Amino acid sequence: MSLLHDGRVALVTGAASGIGRASALAFAREGASVVVTDIDASALAETTAMIVAAGGSVAEAVADIADEGTATALVSLAIDRFGRLDSAHNNAGISIVGSAFENVDEADFDRIIRVNVRSVFLCMQAELRAFVSAGSGAIVNTASSAGLIGVADHAPYSASKHAVIGLTRTAALEFAAVGLRVNAICPGPVDTPMLTASMAGIAPSRLNPMQRLGTPAEIAETVVWLCSDRASFVTGEALQVDGGLVEAEGQLRHD
Ligand code: NAD
Repeated sequence: MSLLHDGRVALVTGAASGIGRASALAFAREGASVVVTDIDASALAETTAMIVAAGGSVAEAVADIADEGTATALVSLAIDRFGRLDSAHNNAGISIVGSAFENVDEADFDRIIRVNVRSVFLCMQAELRAFVSAGSGAIVNTASSAGLIGVADHAPYSASKHAVIGLTRTAALEFAAVGLRVNAICPGPVDTPMLTASMAGIAPSRLNPMQRLGTPAEIAETVVWLCSDRASFVTGEALQVDGGLVEAEGQLRHD
């Protein structure tokens, strides 16, 4: 069976953990050379070791993804090391402990917007510039089901993920005619360290209609597909990968 990303190059941000690590491993499994980046050096080294152990080709960069110049440097690293860049998964993100709207701390709001929105914007800019020069490329941004519906006590996070979808849809429009595709995934609750931090203790029956957490690998499958030629007519999509969570919200409103 042919590999989805044979001979290609992918960039994955937030690759030291959770969804990003699973995505980096999935791209490598599908034949891509992978540039992995994260702010957590030791956990990123583990991801790199896992890719190497699986026979993959990888370059790693430890950086704060929202810093000036990081995105451009990452694109340059891909091109210098592997000669091209075909796919980008802009995935690094943070959540914070929930807080009622009127109590949201300004500094927390700024911190979330910086990592979840500014970094995605800067990465997209750098990636799209390279893709335009090359004449091809695909981006997947990690949004969230919280980017499609409001989430009580999580205003900054929900706002940041709505913004990711706005960036995705706008770039999809601007670059469709030159053959570039830009999509978002909207995971529901996924079994990662972030979830453990923000949603611990929620009963499985209340998570979503499937009554279970998603796995990072299930999310990664949608990323490698969306970035592959098999999704060649898909752009501007905000794909729900959430065990039916957002649909359940609609059902609640109907009832
Ligand atoms: P995670 O905490 O396991 O992984 C996030 C990674 O991003 C970490 O390795 C972290 O070090 C890195 N990171 C954070 N800030 C960074 C920065 N400034 N620069 C570079 N790297 C940074 O979380 P995850 O659940 O895998 O989350 C990945 C993405 O998925 C996030 O964008 C998150 O909002 C989104 N998401 C997660 C869930 C879930 O339930 N876990 C649901 C929907 C969306």
